[in-house]
Amino acid sequence: MSESEFTVEAFRDFLVEGRIMGSRCKGCGAISLPPRPICTQCGGQDLEWVELEGKGTVRAYTVIHVPLTRMRDRCPYACGVVEFDEGPRISGLILGVSEDEEMAVGSRVEVEFVKEGERTALYFRLV
Ligand SMILES: [Zn+2]
Repeated sequence: MSESEFTVEAFRDFLVEGRIMGSRCKGCGAISLPPRPICTQCGGQDLEWVELEGKGTVRAYTVIHVPLTRMRDRCPYACGVVEFDEGPRISGLILGVSEDEEMAVGSRVEVEFVKEGERTALYFRLV
């Protein structure tokens, strides 16, 4: 794998190492997550890797009480949109949700890496 390839596959490889890597446009500064070979804001193709700290804010969510099979043990959890402090938004699952009231738009979350066989999944946890 070349580090110059801004792909979802590269993103997943970084997750295995416990790193959240996005692509940052050298033209306008926008960060894409997962990384994309072309800037989603300005169409620029001069990009660089940027590592995100893994902290963010919930911008939208739904609490899930009837889980996916692989998520049975983690119920209830939430499915939401998280905005990283560095700017990009990503949708994902938020763990550690025990009551609907504990969570709100604006709640702070941190990334949690969970090994699932060969791959590493990216989740969020309320902080
Ligand atoms: Zn751009």
